[in-house]
Amino acid sequence: MAITVVGSVAYDTIETPAGRRERCLGGAATYFSLAASFFTNVRVIAVVGEDFGKRQEAVFQARNIDTRGIEHTAGKSFFWEGSYLENINEAKTHNTELNVFAAFEPKIPEAYGDSEFLFLANIDPVLQRRVREAMPDVKLVAGDTMNYWIKDHRAALLEVLKGLDILLINDTETKMLAGNNNLVQAARAVMALGPKTLVVKHGEYGATLFHGAKIFRAPALPLEEVIDPTGAGDSFAGGFFGYLAAQREITPAAYRSAMFYGGVMGSFACERFGTERMQKLTRPEIDARFNLFRELTHLD
Ligand code: AMP
Repeated sequence: MAITVVGSVAYDTIETPAGRRERCLGGAATYFSLAASFFTNVRVIAVVGEDFGKRQEAVFQARNIDTRGIEHTAGKSFFWEGSYLENINEAKTHNTELNVFAAFEPKIPEAYGDSEFLFLANIDPVLQRRVREAMPDVKLVAGDTMNYWIKDHRAALLEVLKGLDILLINDTETKMLAGNNNLVQAARAVMALGPKTLVVKHGEYGATLFHGAKIFRAPALPLEEVIDPTGAGDSFAGGFFGYLAAQREITPAAYRSAMFYGGVMGSFACERFGTERMQKLTRPEIDARFNLFRELTHLD
């Protein structure tokens, strides 16, 4: 099984109560790929500039992630700057420079053509839609977005939502997209726009799965120290979708386990700045933390 993912591959400058890091490797597709690569094969579609070199490429290669769909072009890579000084659960964006993404025409390598799963990570919905349309035969499509696109690119985003099976967004974005402050009502309204399954992330408080008429809540691991929450949402999505892609049959029980694996990967992402923790992670650590999640919620 293989997931193709399109999204940002970026440099991030991040400030949290634990400190500041300048231009570390980031991007929604980067975090997603690293997390999903522990469960299944991952293929990336993105564009980077001349500032993206062998050292950054090696981060993907170390996890066997297919980077043939990362186009190298003249200019600078996507750049994002944000902080979490007031609210550790929600980034305050200080700067977004699309750079090479502004003129990006996604090209899908032939070798990606047999991917059964497609993830439209956070990026301009126009690009998400182009990739969705170029891969009509995939079995399951999931996607993410953020306030930036909900506010100013709504029409394009609504087109993307029509083609999604699963949408993963945070609670503020769910309410913003629906124009409704009640989470359940907002979730229903968002699902009416396309996705039959909605995963609403609540930062340090876990995530809620709306699957048809059913609702399931999974916890987040209470962490002693959150160093940097950047990429936690994308890592959640990578764990969630990666786990689903690795199942022989995608049952309602598989969705519930996927919610836990999402939480597991999101919690690891927070433990170090940028992708540092994801790069050093091992499968036994993931399994041990999954068991911790079970203990956290089990009654017997
Ligand atoms: P999250 O998992 O929500 O913390 O995602 C953080 C990542 O999203 C960072 O690594 C950023 O590079 C990336 N990002 C921030 N803003 C945007 C945007 N407007 N479009 C695409 N990616 C973004």
